[in-house]
Amino acid sequence: MSEESIIVVGGGIAGLTGAALLAKEGYQVTLVESHSQLGGCAGTFKRGSYTFDVGATQVAGLESGGIHHRLFNYLDIPLPDAQILDPGCSVVLGDGSRPINLWHDPFRWQKERQEQFPGSELFWSLCSKIHESNWGFVGRDPILPVRNFWDLSQLIKAIRPSNLLTGFLSKFTIADLLALTGCQKDRRLLNFLDLQLKLYSQEPASRTAALYGATVLQMAQHPRGLWHLYGSMQILSDLLKDSFLRDGGNLLIGHRVTKILNKKNSNIFDVNVIDSRKNLIRLKASDIVFSLPPQSLLDLIPIDGGLSTTYRESIKKLPKPSGALVFYGALSRSNLPVDCPAHIQIFDEDFGSLFISISMEDDQRAPTGMATLIASVFVDIDQWSNLDSQSYAMKKNIFAKKIRTILNKKFNLLETSWDHQELSTPRSFERWTGRPGGIVGGLGQHPDQFGPFGFSSRTPLRGLWLCGDSIYPGEGTAGVSQSAMMVVRQLMESKGRHLNIPLFN
Ligand SMILES: Cc1cc2nc3c(=O)[nH]c(=O)nc-3n(C[C@H](O)[C@H](O)[C@H](O)COP(=O)(O)OP(=O)(O)OC[C@H]3O[C@@H](n4cnc5c(N)ncnc54)[C@H](O)[C@@H]3O)c2cc1C
Repeated sequence: MSEESIIVVGGGIAGLTGAALLAKEGYQVTLVESHSQLGGCAGTFKRGSYTFDVGATQVAGLESGGIHHRLFNYLDIPLPDAQILDPGCSVVLGDGSRPINLWHDPFRWQKERQEQFPGSELFWSLCSKIHESNWGFVGRDPILPVRNFWDLSQLIKAIRPSNLLTGFLSKFTIADLLALTGCQKDRRLLNFLDLQLKLYSQEPASRTAALYGATVLQMAQHPRGLWHLYGSMQILSDLLKDSFLRDGGNLLIGHRVTKILNKKNSNIFDVNVIDSRKNLIRLKASDIVFSLPPQSLLDLIPIDGGLSTTYRESIKKLPKPSGALVFYGALSRSNLPVDCPAHIQIFDEDFGSLFISISMEDDQRAPTGMATLIASVFVDIDQWSNLDSQSYAMKKNIFAKKIRTILNKKFNLLETSWDHQELSTPRSFERWTGRPGGIVGGLGQHPDQFGPFGFSSRTPLRGLWLCGDSIYPGEGTAGVSQSAMMVVRQLMESKGRHLNIPLFN
């Protein structure tokens, strides 16, 4: 491996997207993935005749002009077979009222919200205006947060008058927008927003940046949309892998990066990797694209490895992201309502949000007549660390039962209805994805911390670049692909080249 080569650490969607783009641009790229399988939080696993999506179950950005669509076109790989979700989700507030359906058709969604939240139209039309302005802005590929003149030039190029107007709202929260539009007393609307925002921003309405929240609240509607992949989520990773290998990328799967060193006054990184047989491999690279959460740098770069104390401290001060409990179940489709939506979000007193994803008939996740059902909740990772094996097993049983009880009640199921069931915890996520403590979903999108105020893809170490769900624009397969594209543009610019990916094919 030459010292001019690039190492991408982590083969989730962020790392794969970055690696595929760099390989297409002719760089010598090695992608190092510790698991025996690619995909990370958007991977899958099999149990008998069932295929379960590990984390992500819905995909945004497959529509024309959406980020996956755009990148797949550029990489010259086919789009995965997918179906638009309509509704994108059905939200059950638990107050006895009928579920709120996030219809794909904007007019149907408008009618739905007018019925569900009378008097809130001003709030929604403000969100809509912000969203449209944001969408154009994001499509013009700004670099955020800005760290040098080139970043600034890219930001300025992306700004239009409408963005200057919405820019005034950059320190506002969604709750501020509610107050501005006179909707702050609508308890039911607030409950709905808290539930939905928690899914995308890790924060409730009172702490979600208005400019971020206004966009994620409208992801399900045309001309955007949420998609269900045929086969499984793994197809996204497989297609990106094909592109990477076609363009000469070097894939080290089942190889874990254990140390990254940047010697003083050297432009070269020394990277230690352990393979599945525990052999130590030493690699060198001019650049590292690091797609793990920034918190992982603290372990991988030793104190004398080149990262300043100030930078290490800034990582330590990052707010603690959530962990997740995910219940993976399988049952006969006859146990589910005939018109059951594929995605349901339920309010629960204990967990707050319970997000359910059900496979579709013949989508290859379960045999004909059967269905997989995945239900996830957010938890504090600290409550799952430092448990001895007995306490951990007991706690796992208790929480699996709690989630099952909610599901049994919701769908009128018996304990015997389940053909398969298991629970993953923050510990399982730590094992599967290597994310410290099992943190998932990136940093909360609070006004002090989203977009322009977020954690930068540039690091104080020249040649060390960050992407993934802690970097702008944030979590989700679409978000991390955008972050990977941004970092590849920055990296190429540092070598005097430009990456221009057309918005439409
Ligand atoms: C329960 C849950 C539900 C979700 N639902 C959705 C959804 O419906 N839609 C959506 O878009 N998003 C969803 N998300 C979020 C989405 O899955 C993530 O934001 C996204 O997949 C993160 O991708 P990533 O590449 O940044 O990180 P990861 O997927 O975490 O990838 C990091 C990769 O690095 C590898 N790695 C770790 N340590 C090392 C090491 N030392 N050396 C080498 N490799 C290493 C890991 O094995 C992993 O493959 C969900 C997440 C969770 C947890």
